[in-house]
Amino acid sequence: ETQFRESLYIVSEFAKKYFIEQLTETEEGQSIGLSYFKERGFTKATIEKFELGYSPAKRNAFTEAAEKKGYGKNILEASGLSIYKETEHGIDRFRERIIFPIHSFSGRTLGFGGRILRSDVKAAKYLNSPESEIYHKSKILYGVFQAKQAILKNNECLLVEGYTDVISLHQAGIENVVASSGTALTPDQIRLIKRLTPNVTILYDGDPAGIKASFRGIDLILEQELNVKVLLFPEGDDPDSFARKHNSDEILEYINQNATDFIQFKAKILLEEAKDNPVKKAELIRDIIQSIGLIPSVIQRELYIQETSKLMDVREEVLFKELEQTIQRKS
Ligand code: ATP
Ligand code: MN
Ligand code: MN
Ligand code: MN
Repeated sequence: ETQFRESLYIVSEFAKKYFIEQLTETEEGQSIGLSYFKERGFTKATIEKFELGYSPAKRNAFTEAAEKKGYGKNILEASGLSIYKETEHGIDRFRERIIFPIHSFSGRTLGFGGRILRSDVKAAKYLNSPESEIYHKSKILYGVFQAKQAILKNNECLLVEGYTDVISLHQAGIENVVASSGTALTPDQIRLIKRLTPNVTILYDGDPAGIKASFRGIDLILEQELNVKVLLFPEGDDPDSFARKHNSDEILEYINQNATDFIQFKAKILLEEAKDNPVKKAELIRDIIQSIGLIPSVIQRELYIQETSKLMDVREEVLFKELEQTIQRKS
């Protein structure tokens, strides 16, 4: 059993090296993969730091190479790198994609994300390794291996949506950043951050999906007694596209000036919807109180109630009463 896991680690390491070699040492990888990275502004140092790679278009290029090296069908299939259907001959999961290896906390390769290069092909933009005995999507944070020192040093973790957000921020000199890879943050991912710092800042995409995900993320983070700030990028931007338009100082300044605590964030978004409608405003206050109710610490709750009282112009006693009801409803 542990031997099987060990084999999965080994084949993942082999695949990571294979994809890097394809990117840097083949005509196809250079003309398609490297030029794509260049277009996105990724430097050679960045490509090396994140061990980015390329998977060829040929349908069984990797599988053939791996079988030749002696890797068996069982392990290739279990890793998700090869797919064996009816026939005996496996085909590659990742074809004609740029490859983002996904590392564990300690730097082992667990799985891969692959991004499509051509916009004319009707396939998912990103493809990930399937769940395996070493790759559990819900327990992994992309970039944690490259970010952990900076997270400790800054005593703060920036949380973004995607691979390229992590990479572009690193390249801009902001290294305390990890991605939930998609928008659904999980409790296990938050536990991983908690090993490094109690301070999280959510930097999700400035689109409706990003806002919705921020709201969910806030509550999950509060439940684990972490401090959470939120920052949304201008509509249509994500950290990657923003980082490409600004220099490091400008990005840092933007983050420092626009990151607000979760109450201000919720209030701002929801107040826009509520306007002067008292029913809506009451709903908004209840929403904020519900989030405060998730915070285990009584002192922290009290401080947040004070803040909400000022911001919403509602007496603290009223808010405490609402808070009590929320907590009762929960238990
Ligand atoms: P790019 O800038 O290359 O277009 P992105 O990271 O901005 O990519 P988003 O659409 O904002 O892409 O998605 C954020 C993250 O969500 C991705 O980096 C990826 O981890 C994950 N994701 C997006 N689409 C898919 C998908 N179809 N399948 C699996 N994961 C996905
Ligand atoms: Mn998005
Ligand atoms: Mn994005
Ligand atoms: Mn993007």
